[in-house]
Amino acid sequence: MARKKNVYFFGGGKADGKADMKNLLGGKGANLAEMSSLGMPVPAGFTITTEVCTAYYGNKGRLPKEVELDVKKALAKVERIMGKKYGDPKNPLLVSVRSGARQSMPGMMDTVLNLGLSSKTLPGFIAKTGNERLAYDAYRRLIMMYADVVMEKAAGIEPPDGMGVREHLEQAMDAMKKKKGVATDVDLDAEDLKKLCRQFKRIVERCIGKVFPDDAEQQLWGGIKAVFQSWNGKRAVSYRRIEGIPDDWGTAVNVQSMVFGNMGRNSATGVAFTRDPATGDNKFYGEWLINAQGEDVVAGIRTPSPLNKATKTDDTQDMESLEEKWPKLYRQLAAIRKELESHYRDMQDIEFTIEDGTLWMLQTRVGKRAGSAAIRMAVDMATNGLIDQDTAIMRVNPEQLDELLHPMLDPEAEKKADVIAKCLPAGPGGAVGQVVLTSEEAEKWAEQGKKVVLVRAETSPEDVHGMHAATAILTAKGGMTSHAALVARGWGKCCIVGCGALAIDAKAKTIAVNGKVIKEGDWVSLNGTTGTVYAGQVPVMPADPERNKWYKKIMRWADAKRQMNVRTNADRPEDAEQAVKFGAEGIGLTRTEHMFFEPERIVHIRAMILAEDEKTRRKAVMKLLPYQKEDFLGIFKAMKGKPVTVRLLDPPLHEFVGGLTDEQTRDLSDQIGVPVAKIKARVEQLHEFNPMLGHRGCRLGVAYPEITEMQARAILEAAAELTKKKVKVLPEIMIPLVGHVNELRHQAAIIDAIAADVKKKYALRKLDYMVGTMIEVPRAAITANQIAEVAEFFSFGTNDLTQMGFGYSRDDVAGFLPTYLRNDILPHDPFQKLDQEGIGQLVAMGVERGRSTRPDLKCGICGEHGGEPSSVKFCHRVGLDYVSCSPFRVPIARFAAAQAAIETPRKTPKAKPRKKTAAKRKTAAKK
Ligand code: PEP
Ligand code: MG
Repeated sequence: MARKKNVYFFGGGKADGKADMKNLLGGKGANLAEMSSLGMPVPAGFTITTEVCTAYYGNKGRLPKEVELDVKKALAKVERIMGKKYGDPKNPLLVSVRSGARQSMPGMMDTVLNLGLSSKTLPGFIAKTGNERLAYDAYRRLIMMYADVVMEKAAGIEPPDGMGVREHLEQAMDAMKKKKGVATDVDLDAEDLKKLCRQFKRIVERCIGKVFPDDAEQQLWGGIKAVFQSWNGKRAVSYRRIEGIPDDWGTAVNVQSMVFGNMGRNSATGVAFTRDPATGDNKFYGEWLINAQGEDVVAGIRTPSPLNKATKTDDTQDMESLEEKWPKLYRQLAAIRKELESHYRDMQDIEFTIEDGTLWMLQTRVGKRAGSAAIRMAVDMATNGLIDQDTAIMRVNPEQLDELLHPMLDPEAEKKADVIAKCLPAGPGGAVGQVVLTSEEAEKWAEQGKKVVLVRAETSPEDVHGMHAATAILTAKGGMTSHAALVARGWGKCCIVGCGALAIDAKAKTIAVNGKVIKEGDWVSLNGTTGTVYAGQVPVMPADPERNKWYKKIMRWADAKRQMNVRTNADRPEDAEQAVKFGAEGIGLTRTEHMFFEPERIVHIRAMILAEDEKTRRKAVMKLLPYQKEDFLGIFKAMKGKPVTVRLLDPPLHEFVGGLTDEQTRDLSDQIGVPVAKIKARVEQLHEFNPMLGHRGCRLGVAYPEITEMQARAILEAAAELTKKKVKVLPEIMIPLVGHVNELRHQAAIIDAIAADVKKKYALRKLDYMVGTMIEVPRAAITANQIAEVAEFFSFGTNDLTQMGFGYSRDDVAGFLPTYLRNDILPHDPFQKLDQEGIGQLVAMGVERGRSTRPDLKCGICGEHGGEPSSVKFCHRVGLDYVSCSPFRVPIARFAAAQAAIETPRKTPKAKPRKKTAAKRKTAAKK
């Protein structure tokens, strides 16, 4: 049987491997092989496979014997092609060793350059290159990297911060520059560098207690093992945790001939993208530096020049581009750019070096790109036939659309800004404003035309006016489904929550964050997409997706593809209109409790709660009817016949009467004629230890049926009025927090009775409406077959389902969630991304059991997960008819749904949005 291949050669227009062997050769190795096979000028080398890495770890850090043999053979081949010999005193070959995992882990593993330089080979290298400065510059880089990567890190030495060998060596170099009175490394001459190399060796010996190996062979094996070892280095391990990369993938090692961009004025190095990674414009875009090594371009010590005339800016107008300096080499590189793009059918990120007038390709990989650039490239490539539409849709990460939907902080300015905290990114986009600490101040300052950031410990419905007036909201407490997060997201407002480091001093009107004190009126900038808070004013870039023709096109393609409808969660006509502009096909959730907090309404709710008999209570509730009817008329009209799901009142009762000041209590007493003492006693009585599990949802409607009556009447009368005017409406009345079918029966019976009455009152032959329920209590999911006897539709409330399924309070989760995430107890915030293995199974079960009773049961989701791409895809897979999310997430959900349909197409087509289910509702209680 043939022995397993451990080492794959590339170079001289040939290669053992190819691009699709990333798992075995890592991304870098596979692409070097591919470029070599394409006949591109790649310095010869070889890749030691990821399987060898696994064997190395399985073998207590020893390389299998046969690998040594294979490496020797491959090295001999490299030597033949390059016409040099590794370790040879007269004509030495130098090599680099670099890591390369199957998925890029930028900067997480180690690299050593210039291996093969020793006192034996230095003279030959100098003679061959005629460049003593280059030789000693290469040598000092080798000593520095080797000591750091091989002798210290790979050996498991962990010096205290700032005390590593690399730091000591850097200090020595800085001292040398200072002594000479020069600013950059380039200003050191051959003699300086020679001296520095001698000094470096002494420092290494002193720091590590071992001599830097003066032997090419020893260096090579040291380098190879150190790269394998770096797979389990601290940085790499924590990066793998974050990115979910399995430990057993291992890294490959690429050993490659060195080429020098720092050989003199005829040499250069550069990085480039086959298209502009920031805008997606189809222009060859890159930077280059004469007489430099790759790391110099990235390090930013010297300012690189643009690659060509077409990409020069005002700042770079006077710099010489590669196109102007060496037109022939530029044409060669531009031809490679074209070939790479048409070969890989994607934008590539490349590294090249020009050694004494010869072009060499060092790397190609799929290039990272900004969101708007990703969209533009995908559409352009599909339009030009380079890829098909499905591939174009899959190329764009749904979250990248967000960039086009909100104003953003300027990313370049962000890099230089002063970070004061990093917390939960609850509402995306960027915002800048002056700090205020109360909703009243927020409103006042906003009226004076100021931009404010409202900073609160947490928000409650009574803060809504201040939240609305503010450009952004920042809270110390709360998770991704806290009040602040829900409301801000609904408005598309920038919001950061769970910022435990904030110490708010209401009296002094200051906030302290990590030792920094910010006063009311100070400017702060928030990046709600990443959860970063900055001191001062960071410039903001405006958003307008409708002006972007590529966005419009890719959204059209996505809509044609998807098999799920997308609705929105909206409580106000203006939010609904915004959502329709973003492509919403209906409302999946109107939270009616948000409609009760306006001052002229809340008094009636309070009167209702405080009423002592049914008659007074009913009278108070019915005062709300005209307001509610107006609300629904507004929403139905805004939705122009699209389906609207209205959820009946949900929040805990005490939210309406808790937190009243003495003055407010006195006012209330005057308004409703109930003595202050009585109000206080009732408030006390209503206090709940666990309000989220308390008297809320349908439990309110069961205890106070008049609320359900009033709300049903408001909805149905609004619908009846519009029906009379021949405006299409189909209200879907949704009962919250049902856990037992009898709760739903009780409420549905009230609604049906009101509907009969409204029909009569408006003399209508037919009044279409549906009654359904939220599935947000685990018991409801388990007994979904019973619940579907009554419910005509289900909407999965995954916020509560997650809360009750995990037993984590939505409002308090921020207290321990960061610890859970840090310790890998949970892979992600389950309030943000649906926990598919647990809570998701409740959803799947609910759909299946519900449809076993009512095959055409309409099912959707209206928890926050309805706008999160991985959760949307899950919803597609378990057969939901629609997802519903906040207006600004609608395009993201549409796009994720299209990707889901491409990944796992369903047999059945998209559900018709207005379909009413056929089976009859059984409201009579079962014996
Ligand atoms: C839910 O629980 O998922 C839901 C949408 O309802 P709310 O967030 O209003 O409790
Ligand atoms: Mg809920």
